[in-house]
Amino acid sequence: EQKQTINFGAGPAKLPQSVLLQAQKEFLSYSGMGISVLEMSHRSADFNKILTKTESLLRELLTIPDNYKVLFLQGGGSGQFSAVPLNLIGLKEDTCADYLVTGTWSEKAAKEAEKYGKVNIVHPKLDSYTKIPDPSSWTLNPSASYVYYCCNETVHGVEYNFTPKTNGVTLVSDMSSNFLSRPVDVSKFGLIFAGAQKNVGCAGVTVVIVREDLLGHALNDCPIVLNYKVQADMNSLYNTPPCFSIYIMGLVLEWIKNNGGSAAMEALNKQKSSMIYDIINASNGFYECPVDETCRSRMNLPFHIGSKEGDEGLEKEFLAGASKGGMISLKGHRSVGGIRASLYNAVTLEDAEALGTYMKVFMKEH
Ligand code: PMP
Repeated sequence: EQKQTINFGAGPAKLPQSVLLQAQKEFLSYSGMGISVLEMSHRSADFNKILTKTESLLRELLTIPDNYKVLFLQGGGSGQFSAVPLNLIGLKEDTCADYLVTGTWSEKAAKEAEKYGKVNIVHPKLDSYTKIPDPSSWTLNPSASYVYYCCNETVHGVEYNFTPKTNGVTLVSDMSSNFLSRPVDVSKFGLIFAGAQKNVGCAGVTVVIVREDLLGHALNDCPIVLNYKVQADMNSLYNTPPCFSIYIMGLVLEWIKNNGGSAAMEALNKQKSSMIYDIINASNGFYECPVDETCRSRMNLPFHIGSKEGDEGLEKEFLAGASKGGMISLKGHRSVGGIRASLYNAVTLEDAEALGTYMKVFMKEH
């Protein structure tokens, strides 16, 4: 039975209906065991099967090379803002790192990294997070331990459609909000991390994909649960992992695989997002997206109504009407206001069409 509500939230976000139904079916007794995944020892053979299956699906869907470890950690994307410098800023003797700051999330990551070493922002400071500075304006430091960027800025709706070139310096990316929404060449990265609660599951687990030669360089002060080498050596079982979240991720990855994998997700996400951006572009300024056309996110679509800054009354009315029609969580992040539609993998074409239809009707009526 189809749910009536369409969730356009930025995360935790919509999960595929079939995943929820399967989790419900298995909730009390997993695989005939008579206990729930919630009650299972993380050191049991049965949980090990779940962990192994989840990892191998991830390896298959992203064609992760053999010289990369896959970790399932806690602490969220924010935990990785600390873990990345704690593990990697000491790779080279200068203990410094290059950061691209194109929105709230990379700004937070850069600020956290400053606690552990020198941080160089590689481009002139942006006065608004609506574009990616041209690579010709970047000053990369060849003795940086790594170059960091956020592949999709969830709050501002700014997404990279290219992989930054670093002249051989280790590349690190926060892919929390566009993970598995499109194919990615993992071999170009030293490390990729992503919280699960947008495209690949529920809150509680953060995936880290890290090249093996980067392990073992953590600063002495690195908390042991965040130490990549310790967690890699223990197969993410140094301490109790978020078992149920890993199980849910496994179900979502299976769903992605059955629906054609990352290439099919990319095609669908392109279709959904260009439909909404087309409506915005054709609205003669009724809808305004502040983001440069070259880097508009396919995942998080921010826009204002009525004017560039947004007419508060109209936006309120838009949200109330959407909510009446069963479309929820469309309010923009509190720091930027306006509207934000998040169209992650589990948001269907029909869901996006319902939003598009509503946007057209709302425009006509105002
Ligand atoms: N990075 C990005 C791109 C995010 O969107 C978020 C959360 N919205 C985070 C990091 C922080 O994740 P968490 O809340 O899991 O710490």
